[in-house]
Amino acid sequence: MDLFKKMDMPKAGTTDSKTAQGDKERIKCLIIGSGPAGYTAAIYAARANMQPVIIQGMQAGGQLTTTTEVDNFPGYPQGIDGTALMEDLKTQAERFGTEIRWGTVTKVDFSGDLKEVVVDDEKTILADTVIIATGATAKYLGLASEEKYRGGGVSACATCDGFFYRGKTVAVVGGGDTAAEEATYLANLCKKVYLIIRKDHLRASKAMQNRVFNTPNIEVLFEHNTKELYGDGVVEGAILVKHQGKPTEQIVDIKIDGFFLAIGHTPNSDVFKPFVQTDENGYIITEGKSSKTNVPGVFACGDVQDHNYRQAITAAGSGCMAALDAERYLAAKH
Ligand code: NDP
Repeated sequence: MDLFKKMDMPKAGTTDSKTAQGDKERIKCLIIGSGPAGYTAAIYAARANMQPVIIQGMQAGGQLTTTTEVDNFPGYPQGIDGTALMEDLKTQAERFGTEIRWGTVTKVDFSGDLKEVVVDDEKTILADTVIIATGATAKYLGLASEEKYRGGGVSACATCDGFFYRGKTVAVVGGGDTAAEEATYLANLCKKVYLIIRKDHLRASKAMQNRVFNTPNIEVLFEHNTKELYGDGVVEGAILVKHQGKPTEQIVDIKIDGFFLAIGHTPNSDVFKPFVQTDENGYIITEGKSSKTNVPGVFACGDVQDHNYRQAITAAGSGCMAALDAERYLAAKH
């Protein structure tokens, strides 16, 4: 029996769910961002009768829509296309009355009891609770060929896409902890991993460096910069410049099947920074094991507050937490 079908959910965006306050719309639960965290928060918030509204943001569906196959999201034994997974989450959120809107949040004022959120510099929403699920954006080198081969050998997530390169040769760019971790992860699956580092040393912690140096199928290329990727439809190799700008400068051609970026992520938190506390890298700080930010009534979930796990399933889990925290906050207020 489908219990959900029997529930009579008022639809967000109807007079039941929101009221106008002057020319400002009032909403119980505003969710900003439409990745796995945002949609999961919406599913839970809608079922708790909070009539959530999602502001989708620039990249509707979030980072997963830039990958192809997702094999590690529980419940899809055959794997699922990233965009299709996000469509499923969206449909599930809508089924319980979530209203999903185009738009980008351009300004917030979290100083009052009601949180003011401006969308596209035009419309102001007053929200009792705000759930920030804006994610993080992987950094890319900015090469034209990176764009060309996105989904055809270029990836910014080894855990997501490494499996497709079993037995193959890949390269990882970056010298931080992420790059070291991704290189060792890929070394377990791949025949060979090049680690391309622009400096003459790694920035990663000593422990991570030791793991890299003790993995025989990782070749570290210090003082190498990536010039371009090439291949017929998919990545087949990379042109690197060794000792760029020095008298010893030389072109190096490596044959690879996959090219993984690990040069950091940028959490999408700028617009909230005047009110919400972030760490030195811009990740929103949440309290203990909760999704609470330093502003009562404002919660954060997914990659915008997590630089550690960064998985669709952990983002979804934290979205659930944010909705439960928001619901409890509202219940305590009334
Ligand atoms: P980091 O900012 O630490 O490292 C980025 C790396 O990418 C640096 O080596 C940097 O080089 C390189 N880089 C940046 N831009 C370019 C470019 N244009 N071309 C070539 N190389 C470039 O990012 P991480 O994602 O590695 O780590 C972020 C944070 O998360 C850190 O605090 C890290 O410690 C933490 N973390 C912790 C983990 C753990 O504890 N298990 C796992 C993963 C991350 P350069 O050194 O020359 O600046």
